[in-house]
Amino acid sequence: MTHIKNNLVQVKHQISQACQLANRSIDEVLLLAVSKTKPSAMVEQAYHAGQRFFGESYIQEAIEKIEQLSHLTDIQWHFIGPIQSNKTRHIAELFSWVHSVDRAKIITRLNEQRSEQDTPLNVCLQVNISGESSKSGIKVNELAELAQLTDTSSHLTLRGIMAIPEKNASIASYQKMQQLFQQLQQQYPSVDTLSMGMSSDLTVAIAHGATIVRIGTAIFGQRETIANN
Ligand SMILES: *Cc1c(COP(=O)(O)O)cnc(C)c1O
Repeated sequence: MTHIKNNLVQVKHQISQACQLANRSIDEVLLLAVSKTKPSAMVEQAYHAGQRFFGESYIQEAIEKIEQLSHLTDIQWHFIGPIQSNKTRHIAELFSWVHSVDRAKIITRLNEQRSEQDTPLNVCLQVNISGESSKSGIKVNELAELAQLTDTSSHLTLRGIMAIPEKNASIASYQKMQQLFQQLQQQYPSVDTLSMGMSSDLTVAIAHGATIVRIGTAIFGQRETIANN
């Protein structure tokens, strides 16, 4: 308990320092606690330490945790992992946000499947900013079209863009994301989110305009090295 609580205090302190350095208000940056591979008991500990926003990457695991924690009614779940088209219904039904949307088919399916819910699903388009073939995400030149498709989908709200810059990515990748974010914001009033920054790069991400940082390891500890997580 104290261990997760202390980690949260530590991470918030880091976020606060990064905001100060960047001359930004701490209120501009939301901390998303990435709980993938970690048991619901740990999520609950973070919850009792005041954390409300949680990110999950694997749908099956997320379904179980969301069910186990359904008594914590004000948790907000964000899906941040690769999306298979046969899993979109779970995302549309169980999550408030999805950060990893990367193709038209997914947008269409999420929009249809969200129609039964009262509130639109908040969507970020994932941009493959480092140009790595191994990472998912759209190319920069696909952004305009997919942003428009999302914006015209009545059960979705276009909130912004997300990236996972590669390890030791150059500053140029962060600058590029900030520039794309600002351009998109000018075009769409609903856009307010640049989801960028993880345990090891939150300071540089905040310096380049990140509004959501997705932090796993620094809160919950190292993950087992199964799969690519
Ligand atoms: C796992 C993961 C994170 C958290 O990474 P850490 O380095 O553990 O902070 C953030 N974003 C995405 C998309 C992830 O898959």
